[in-house]
Amino acid sequence: MIAELIMVGTELLLGEVIDTNSAYLAQRLAELGVDLYYVSRVGDNRRRIAQLVNQAHQRADLIIISGGLGPTADDLTKEAVADAFGLELVLCGEALAEIEEHFRRLNRTMSENNKRQAYLPAGGKALSNPKGTAPGVLLELPDGKAVIMLPGVPVELKAIMEDSVIPYIQQKLGDENRADIYSKILRFYGLGESAIDNIVQDIIAAQTNPTIAPYAGSGEVRLRITAKAANESEALRLIEPVERKLLDRLGPYFYGYGDEGLEVVAARLLLSRKKTVAVAESCTGGLISHKLTNVPGSAGYYMQGAVTYSNAAKTAVLGVDSRLLEQFGAECRQVAKAMAEGGRQWAGTDIGLAVTGIAGPGGGSAAKPVGLV
Ligand code: ATP
Repeated sequence: MIAELIMVGTELLLGEVIDTNSAYLAQRLAELGVDLYYVSRVGDNRRRIAQLVNQAHQRADLIIISGGLGPTADDLTKEAVADAFGLELVLCGEALAEIEEHFRRLNRTMSENNKRQAYLPAGGKALSNPKGTAPGVLLELPDGKAVIMLPGVPVELKAIMEDSVIPYIQQKLGDENRADIYSKILRFYGLGESAIDNIVQDIIAAQTNPTIAPYAGSGEVRLRITAKAANESEALRLIEPVERKLLDRLGPYFYGYGDEGLEVVAARLLLSRKKTVAVAESCTGGLISHKLTNVPGSAGYYMQGAVTYSNAAKTAVLGVDSRLLEQFGAECRQVAKAMAEGGRQWAGTDIGLAVTGIAGPGGGSAAKPVGLV
């Protein structure tokens, strides 16, 4: 099955709203083993939306459209889809009843506008929206293809996708010929994307199933290994030797899998080894404490922290020798070590962690450039 996504909304073209819906939809489709070749964004313009729908209809079996189902005059998705296939908009009793019920539940009066949301392209079926007023729409076409229209509001789009659209796609795919896509993400810290690419380029180039794709994140790099297989255990069997090859070369920079960021892995290690930590920060202004305390269960390892921004604070709170600060300046190995030791003693913890450096944008020099930590 080939799918195509159309994201509707002038706000997306103006850069006022980041298009997260297409990322979510693309991920879900990939997990289902549905191929996706094109994703488009278009403003609230009936003619251009209809043109895109026609174009997508030529090259995809399933078109998913996000946005433009609201009650206002600039919500034109259903009109445009009706234009594209020469259909009328007709009142759908089921959709109307659901919208009325939604307003009853909220104890609000329904406006005439909201009634517009119950008009669907002829032959369309309403997809229940548990999170809002606009129902989604499923329009099955005579050629066996289908168009699905979903509200732009991300929680509503996701709810309808999970409740109605995914089961519909799964049913269309049929169990027997379903090839699922499974991914495993390896996370690396301390090497940039191009350095990692240089080290494992030959492995990446040689792979077809699974494939390997590098992604640069903030301060880290991820390698996504993706296998197409009939089931999860078969996929893991394909992924395992590739993962081993990658880790043979990148082992020292590898820190974890999947969604787990550095702080989650650090938290797990601290808890399992029953170690406590105190944090003394300068240039990060509390960011490291924030990250370490953002993990559930952080009270088990995080004891206290200090943002000692000025030299005076480093001396007063952490007992950093002022002669060190005078001799080397605040941004150096010696002061970082003294801050960590001072923080550990101050809190009585197993571990003291300190950071000092030049965050920029100003304040750098040839000897101590912006970014030195
Ligand atoms: P509504 O009933 O709220 O009018 P709608 O289907 O008409 O829903 P839009 O008006 O197109 O949807 O979008 C509603 C809001 O949803 C937008 O203001 C925006 O905040 C968010 N949104 C729309 N499209 C996207 C998208 N592709 N990614 C993320 N957020 C989006």
